[in-house]
Amino acid sequence: MLRIGIFGGMFDPVHIGHLQSAIEAFEYLQLDKVSLVPCAHPPHRQIAHLKFEYRTQLLVAACTRFLEFEVDTCEMKRDGPSYTLDTLQDFHSRYVDASLYLLVGSDAFSGFADWKNWREVFSLAHVIVLHRPGFPPMPDGELGDVFNERKVSTLDELQAAKQGRIGSLAVTQLEISSTLVRERVQQNLDVAYLVPEEARKLIIENNWYSKELAGE
Ligand code: ATP
Repeated sequence: MLRIGIFGGMFDPVHIGHLQSAIEAFEYLQLDKVSLVPCAHPPHRQIAHLKFEYRTQLLVAACTRFLEFEVDTCEMKRDGPSYTLDTLQDFHSRYVDASLYLLVGSDAFSGFADWKNWREVFSLAHVIVLHRPGFPPMPDGELGDVFNERKVSTLDELQAAKQGRIGSLAVTQLEISSTLVRERVQQNLDVAYLVPEEARKLIIENNWYSKELAGE
């Protein structure tokens, strides 16, 4: 059975915290590929600092060195807010027999119960929580109960099901965020070891992030 990792985000811009976590998930979970899915129309109050097309260009440039990464722009093909559930349904219709692994950083997972129809996610995919510095991967409340019901502790347990389990992955802890990258670019500081060189070049050549809100 094909195993596909789906890693969504604003990627505004992509940085090595995203990429290293995705590589480690790919390796540990024995995935066949990881689809990076830039968010087209943020459903929550987030704003894009760079428009979708440019965020996607950065992602594509950043992914060239790792052949098992692909950038998937399916969210741009839909109108209205880009809900993860719709994205999973889209993947499910394209890869009916595949096992889908939704990769989510622990900060994003802590707000998972606010996502549209979040419980339905488990009928389409496994959810893999990637540890992120400062965000304990153990949620509480209603989400905590679901976490405890569905969590697995071994790869065998995860792979025994096609979807519906929650895994927790202690990836290398890199305290890097897109916010940090944007702030440094704006202050004319170097981001050479925070983003892949291909992406850094594009940012500098195009003057992206040097002023506020170039996006939608
Ligand atoms: P911002 O600083 O603008 O909020 P961000 O760095 O959190 O951005 P996003 O594009 O919002 O980046 O994140 C996409 C996904 O990647 C989310 O699931 C997030 O939790 C995860 N992620 C982001 N940075 C890291 C990191 N350093 N380590 C692990 N996961 C990360």
